[in-house]
Amino acid sequence: MMIPKNGSHVTAPFVSRYLIAHACFACRRSWKLPVLFGGVGEGGRSCPACGGGLCLMGRSFKAPKRTDVAQWRKVEALWRRGYRFWSYRSHPGAEPLPATLKEVSGFLRRNPDHPMRLKPARAAAGWR
Ligand SMILES: [Zn+2]
Repeated sequence: MMIPKNGSHVTAPFVSRYLIAHACFACRRSWKLPVLFGGVGEGGRSCPACGGGLCLMGRSFKAPKRTDVAQWRKVEALWRRGYRFWSYRSHPGAEPLPATLKEVSGFLRRNPDHPMRLKPARAAAGWR
């Protein structure tokens, strides 16, 4: 990206019109926030509660209860492997994300190229 030397005409990053779920795995809480695309990316927001980095989850993400530690571990395991929570409307044939933590490893094995997975993570999975 070109940044003028005087800094007065920096192209504004695209900000989504939608509020999208961001989660803090340490606090097991989520917030709906606008997303900065083309800006600082997914690491750009910090948790209002603990100040740690928030993770962009996706529009279809439904936060588990704070006390449901297993569900939070499940979504964290998926997130760390590059899976995000978007609508399945354009991918009717895709296997739904696993319902429980126990199902995660089998799901990951079956779905290295899952459409809900970020492209770099999919590419990395293909290299094995
Ligand atoms: Zn937090």
